[in-house]
Amino acid sequence: MTDCLFCKIVSGEVPAKIVRESPGAVAFRDINPQAPTHVLVIPRAHHPTAAELAAADPATLAEVLTEAHQVAVDEGIAETGYRIVFNTGAQAGQTVFHVHAHVLGGRGLNWPPG
Ligand code: 5GP
Ligand code: ZN
Repeated sequence: MTDCLFCKIVSGEVPAKIVRESPGAVAFRDINPQAPTHVLVIPRAHHPTAAELAAADPATLAEVLTEAHQVAVDEGIAETGYRIVFNTGAQAGQTVFHVHAHVLGGRGLNWPPG
């Protein structure tokens, strides 16, 4: 997609602090972190939501989740605990319609989220 912010991060047109790359996914730090670790993991290919990625390419959704766990390992929060969030739709707070897993951790996380 030519007009998608996260496609532009994949292509390098928009800079980002990339922390991991795999054949089908890219992980980079959120520009407005909500926790000591706040990394976004996205598929290189454009899919709007987690459900659409699951339907179109389940192997890549699995790769996004595997990379999300590896981010937690790299950040030293895999043992203490971390949260993976896919906001889906406007009322849930999705603002960028290129699917992204938020990886959050490094502090106690409230449940349920707001
Ligand atoms: P959403 O609200 O769609 O679940 O998450 C979008 C996330 O993308 C937000 O947490 C926001 O801070 C982050 N974000 C928005 N624009 C940029 C950007 O240009 N670079 C980076 N690294 N993160 C961004
Ligand atoms: Zn995109």
